[in-house]
Amino acid sequence: MVIRRREVLAGLLATGGIVIWGGMSQTAHAYDVTITPTSPQLGDTISVIVQASRGNSVPPTVTANGKEYPSFPLANNRFRAFVPTSPLDPPGRLVIQVSGQEETRNLAVGVRDRSFRTQWITLRGSGSLGTDHEFDRVDAFKQLVSPDRHWNGPLLRPSQGRVSSEYGVQRYYNGEFAEGYYHRGVDYAAATGSPVVAPAAGYIRLVGRVSEGFELHGNTVGIDHGQGLLSIMIHLSRIDVSEGDFVQAGQRIGAIGSTGASTGPHLHWGLYMNEVAVDPVPWRFDGFE
Ligand SMILES: [Zn+2]
Repeated sequence: MVIRRREVLAGLLATGGIVIWGGMSQTAHAYDVTITPTSPQLGDTISVIVQASRGNSVPPTVTANGKEYPSFPLANNRFRAFVPTSPLDPPGRLVIQVSGQEETRNLAVGVRDRSFRTQWITLRGSGSLGTDHEFDRVDAFKQLVSPDRHWNGPLLRPSQGRVSSEYGVQRYYNGEFAEGYYHRGVDYAAATGSPVVAPAAGYIRLVGRVSEGFELHGNTVGIDHGQGLLSIMIHLSRIDVSEGDFVQAGQRIGAIGSTGASTGPHLHWGLYMNEVAVDPVPWRFDGFE
């Protein structure tokens, strides 16, 4: 009798079914999933923390919108993946699938719409559209995902300059909406030569200079903070680091300038998670462990 009841229970657990035991009813899940923020808006980074059962040390697979996001161990069979969102995503229901050895779970989160500021730009003549060299190098940098995490908690402000343009601004060029464009970072305006510091620790994985063809980005530094989180700093007047260096949070990496396609001295800081430029604000003020 006892053996048979155990077999039934094991069978139900394996299929993720409803366990009815002694008149009580509960849904049993092998994966306990916590999604934050609970009510994200476009541009937010969604953290998916998965608590697996004891003894399961295999990272689960996290999928959203048909794209798979890497998960990394936190501690005690806990894993985390980050799902980025951007102004280009449709607002509304987003299904996040967590699957692994033990089960597959589908969790829905409602992504709130958000209005972004709009700029009307009049273009006269043709500015530099950039070089293949710089796009190849920047694209390769944006794809980096390395296993070690070098941040903990809120990121630092990379410049003491005032914010001159926030994340997500949309544009019309000569009256025509720029489809696919959004401001992929935050701009800080300050005098040429003002310090630019690393918002978090990490490895310098990109150094590009105007003299090598960085016509659009200008002098550029890219930092790999680990687990898919990257910073790119562009339009610098000076670069104080080399590729391969490890920098600490707050360490000076260069100085504000107006190199590349820039109308005045400012830092453009782009924060990327899993190849998508996300809003740095939640990372700066709330942070993720
Ligand atoms: Zn910018």
